[in-house]
Amino acid sequence: MGPATDKEFVPSRYVSLSHQADGALVLHCARTGAIGTVEGELAADARRALLPDTVSRRDDSPVVSDLIDGGFLVPRGVDERALVTHQYAGRYVDNSLHLIVMPTEQCNFRCVYCYEEFKRPRMKPEVVEGIKNLVDGDDDLDFLALSWFGGEPLLASDIVLDVTGHLRRSCEAKGAGFTALATTNGSLLTPAYADQVIPAGLSQFQITLDGLAHEHDARRVGALGETAFHTIWRNLLYLRSTDHDFTVMIRHNFDPESHARFPDFLAELEREFGADERFSMELSAIGKWGGPNDDNLHVFEGRDASRAVLHNKWLALKAGFPDAISQQKMQPNGAVCYAANPHSFVVGPNGDLHKCTVELDYHDRNIVGSIHRDGSLTLGWQKMALWCETDGSSWDAPTKCTTCYFNPSCHGAVCPKEWMDEPECACPNAKQSIGETLTLIREESLYSRIR
Ligand code: SF4
Ligand code: SF4
Repeated sequence: MGPATDKEFVPSRYVSLSHQADGALVLHCARTGAIGTVEGELAADARRALLPDTVSRRDDSPVVSDLIDGGFLVPRGVDERALVTHQYAGRYVDNSLHLIVMPTEQCNFRCVYCYEEFKRPRMKPEVVEGIKNLVDGDDDLDFLALSWFGGEPLLASDIVLDVTGHLRRSCEAKGAGFTALATTNGSLLTPAYADQVIPAGLSQFQITLDGLAHEHDARRVGALGETAFHTIWRNLLYLRSTDHDFTVMIRHNFDPESHARFPDFLAELEREFGADERFSMELSAIGKWGGPNDDNLHVFEGRDASRAVLHNKWLALKAGFPDAISQQKMQPNGAVCYAANPHSFVVGPNGDLHKCTVELDYHDRNIVGSIHRDGSLTLGWQKMALWCETDGSSWDAPTKCTTCYFNPSCHGAVCPKEWMDEPECACPNAKQSIGETLTLIREESLYSRIR
């Protein structure tokens, strides 16, 4: 290979392509996160420029110039792997913080696929104080992402309200960005509480509905056997009726049986929420997630799961629920689990710090430290490294990730837990069905233009 020059460009090793039925080409570059569509005759120019070993110059054609700007073509001789390694190492030096806070491990539901053990009650007051002091005392903080998790976090609704408001004000005072999300079953997000907590700063909700009443209530069973679908639905309708600035991501978990009834459920969602852009959907195939009921679950296996998810995403898109998640996952580091982020911690009710929200305290390796009343953290860096240094792209001991075109988005860290426990970590859905994913993203952009 000749010397590096900014005049000659060759195809990036991190490009994926999807050939469309109308002749268009959808492109993704995992190193830059660029996604684009080339249509008509220009698609042939793009295909030629992206053939292996092709050398192009910026003034060859307008499409070549665009491909250079998007990172699909790179200067000849550039070490792209070094750029990607450098980008990934940047996680250690940014000044953001991601706190996944469990104000209680208790839950008022007993979902059939749940893996939690509901051991601890309300968060201790000294832990609440520690979280506030941690953020108040961090003068360099640029961005705080707060995620409420449980158990059911709204069983400790007073803690959620108090801490959200405090941290939002603290971030505002120091000029740091702030977002707050709650993963909640939605049964306790009453109109009165929503009117308090949304203005306090909790504006993003992920609420699970596993189908219409009969289906949902059979899978997401109340702790005392009670049903909750109609309560959750009423709470959602109230949110829709307000002017509050919020988003609700309706998460739908499905198995092979409920998959067949998804269109009926979707029709009802479309009727009530399809025209309101504050509501979106996340679709997930139920898996054996480690709960006591796993052996009784009938689940999609392997690629059938990602195919079923994509199929339902198409239907959801047509019903007015675009899929924001797929595009996020295609960004640099976008498919990397938060457990691999050195600035991300799960704070348990007793002040233990974890990395993985599935493993919690079931395995000693996931208890990586603790938070103290004054906001200081004690961390075990060897355990932290187990989670944060999951990078499958080593050239010393090559794996399937080493030469993967999707590596800058994933780094083999889509699930560090699986990486440690299994011989090989499964690739993210977006990569497993890359052609369909890119087609879906193209459809979404067309859809949002005409909506
Ligand atoms: S897990 Fe799959 S998608 Fe991720 S880097 Fe490895 S081979 Fe690529
Ligand atoms: S490490 Fe795996 S199981 Fe744990 S939170 Fe991340 S994706 Fe989930």
